[in-house]
Amino acid sequence: MECGNPLQSSSTIGMNPNLKPEKTSSIEAGFEAAFWDNRLCLDFTYYKTDSRNQILKLATTAASGYTSQVRNAGHIRNRGYEIVDFSEPADFYIINTCSVTHLGERKSRQLIRRANRLNDNAIIAVTGCYAQIASDEISKIEGVRVVIGTKQRDKIVDLVEKAAREDGLFNEVNDVMHMHEFEDIPLYGTPHRTRAFLKIQDGCCNFCSYCIIPYTRGPIRSRKLESIKTAVDQLVEENFHEIVFTGIHLGAYGRDFKGENISLSDAVEICLANENLKRLRLGSLESIEISPRLLELIKTHKRFTKHLHLPLQAGSDEILKAMNRHYTTEEFARLIENIRREVPDIAISTDIIVGFPGETDELFQKSLEFAKSMGFMKMHVFPYSKRAGTPAAKMTNQIDEAVKKQRVHLMQKMAEQSATEFYQRFLGRELEVLFEQEQDGYMEGLTSNYIRVYIKNDGAITSGDIRLVKLVKLFKDGILGELI
Ligand code: SF4
Repeated sequence: MECGNPLQSSSTIGMNPNLKPEKTSSIEAGFEAAFWDNRLCLDFTYYKTDSRNQILKLATTAASGYTSQVRNAGHIRNRGYEIVDFSEPADFYIINTCSVTHLGERKSRQLIRRANRLNDNAIIAVTGCYAQIASDEISKIEGVRVVIGTKQRDKIVDLVEKAAREDGLFNEVNDVMHMHEFEDIPLYGTPHRTRAFLKIQDGCCNFCSYCIIPYTRGPIRSRKLESIKTAVDQLVEENFHEIVFTGIHLGAYGRDFKGENISLSDAVEICLANENLKRLRLGSLESIEISPRLLELIKTHKRFTKHLHLPLQAGSDEILKAMNRHYTTEEFARLIENIRREVPDIAISTDIIVGFPGETDELFQKSLEFAKSMGFMKMHVFPYSKRAGTPAAKMTNQIDEAVKKQRVHLMQKMAEQSATEFYQRFLGRELEVLFEQEQDGYMEGLTSNYIRVYIKNDGAITSGDIRLVKLVKLFKDGILGELI
């Protein structure tokens, strides 16, 4: 299927910076990433030292949402920029934008303005989904010098440096609807963390009726298996203990390799073949794309985490159909039952949208009851957000914002209860925890099934250790444990 983009736009304006980056030196990375926990994906700044030993700073940040994940920024790192915290003034800013919801777009604009406030003489480059569909709007924000969408992001540093040498606005937003090659952007370095996000797939042609992503990302493209192997080896070499595979439509991995019969399971196997990798986790995945082979891999490989994020989106067949989702609640329930039969301790998290056009009180109640019956370990609840150009935006039976707000509240309340019940099941059990970091006197880490575990830190544990822990009581957003 070809994806046509009705939302393409472009424009140019001029600015006048006077920065000229030259030869580079050392690299250091700082990185803030949150996966399913919130929607701000990354936030880091790069410093570039020139041949006269002057430091040029390059900052990048992301207002990312939904399936949008952490960017690989190795192309920046490989040019010799030193990465530091975003909050400091920089000479260059790269802002990775999100267009999944109004909130994502607002956050994106705020980040651009923040960069301009930090240094109004800086070169600001804007990339990502929002840039892809609204380059005119973005070009008008003060300080913006480079706009690049979701294509050719490996060119961004060239463009930023060009903008430092030449006047004008560099608008490089191109049509993504005919892209068929995965952009193999080099990996970023993210020391101080144990978990790395590896994007192995881009694009989606599912066209869920509420979603803008197929228009901003184009068709399905997958990272080649050899490239995954190289990336995994490199990340393990750099001391990352856990790798998270991400993608816009992860379950569609390999579908673009015509006649090769390659699927996500092959990518998983090639990753697990590196025996020094402690854990592999999957990002968001469509429930109906879990193959028996993939389930078998989860079941049999200790290093393949027992956690799946399967977006439900609605708990009534009427709304699922209106959303153009390709399953019924009965099919979803059967899949979950099957997964739990094979892997009893597995954690299943989800996304759900409330207030979709046509969602009556009765249908919302159905959705609430169904989601409750699924016993999710975690739920991300979103109020439906109208995206111009999508079929759902044209539906006439839109829901009042106040009603959406109330439904979000009710769904979240149920989600909290569901999470607590999931955690309680594991109290008294002994599970392996991969420790990540210390905070406020506690070492914290994750179990294979995504339970956040805290232990009092007496110096016995360091980041990257895997230890057996007895789970004692509910604590913060997870469980307090004791070392065995
Ligand atoms: S599967 Fe649906 S919700 Fe997910 S990216 Fe594709 S169109 Fe959007």
